[in-house]
Amino acid sequence: MKACLFDGRTVRIDTAYPDAAPAQGEVRVRVQLAGVCRTDLEIIKGYMGFTGVLGHEFVGTALEGRLEGRRVVGGINCVCGACDMCRRGLPTHCRNRTTLGIDGRDGAFAEHLTLPEANLVPVPDRVSDRQAVFAEPLAAALQILRQIAVEPGAETVVLGDGRLGQLVAQVFQARDAAPMVVGMAPAKLAILARLGIATVHAANAKPTKTADVVVECTGAAAGLAMAMAFVRPRGRIVLKSTVADTAGLNLAPIVVDEVTVVGSRCGPMDAAVEELAAGRVEVEPLITAEYPLDEAVAALQEAAKPEAIKVLIRP
Ligand SMILES: [Zn+2]
Ligand SMILES: [Zn+2]
Repeated sequence: MKACLFDGRTVRIDTAYPDAAPAQGEVRVRVQLAGVCRTDLEIIKGYMGFTGVLGHEFVGTALEGRLEGRRVVGGINCVCGACDMCRRGLPTHCRNRTTLGIDGRDGAFAEHLTLPEANLVPVPDRVSDRQAVFAEPLAAALQILRQIAVEPGAETVVLGDGRLGQLVAQVFQARDAAPMVVGMAPAKLAILARLGIATVHAANAKPTKTADVVVECTGAAAGLAMAMAFVRPRGRIVLKSTVADTAGLNLAPIVVDEVTVVGSRCGPMDAAVEELAAGRVEVEPLITAEYPLDEAVAALQEAAKPEAIKVLIRP
């Protein structure tokens, strides 16, 4: 099959990559559409030690099993079901997990992928492929609501106007907790403004330490320091950037202001599909380019440009 590979140094298309072979409990999925994410860009910089087929955001058709012939999206964490974390009901923290296109498992920038059947979530007809491909990052946005209470009317701030910040902002808006989004790209802030979400350019932001909740989606090391400038005493900071770096950062304000800092990663795929089906999130304005799988290398280059939001790859 055709697949977009990273060998630890370079990205290339292989037209004769061995087809995915499902293990016990796994099914093959024909990929219809895939999305490029910041994690993919981190991987091809060699930051994550992954080699193999890239990509973890997808919508496709199950080729076997209970959902055979149905359109599906899939949770990316593949778990053992037997370790202490799995037994505790924390499967996304499985000690033995592999992660689609990120860690120990070939990903979605290919004609086929395999996932455990239990990871697949069917997609209703009223959700298009271009919507469904957002399920994984949208699940990550919804995960915040599973970790902290965001009350209607809460004062919220989202730091970052990229792929994830856009989705978090819409999820909060749909819960009557519309944020102010602090970003760097006027075109991306304009998309939010059209949806009725307040925005400010980072250069003009005046943090007042009044936000109940601050979600840090900057993808930049300085994100946590910035979040601390916005959050109120006893407020909560949700960290989404895995590059968050505390080097040289004074953590004393977290103690003095009794701030809660919550790390947040993957979320519920079924809830994400529901959110899309209910029309609570508008994703079309976030798609800035689509490439065929043959041009996946160009798609990754495009996704790295500051003006890109979501770049899609079609096998
Ligand atoms: Zn992603
Ligand atoms: Zn486990």
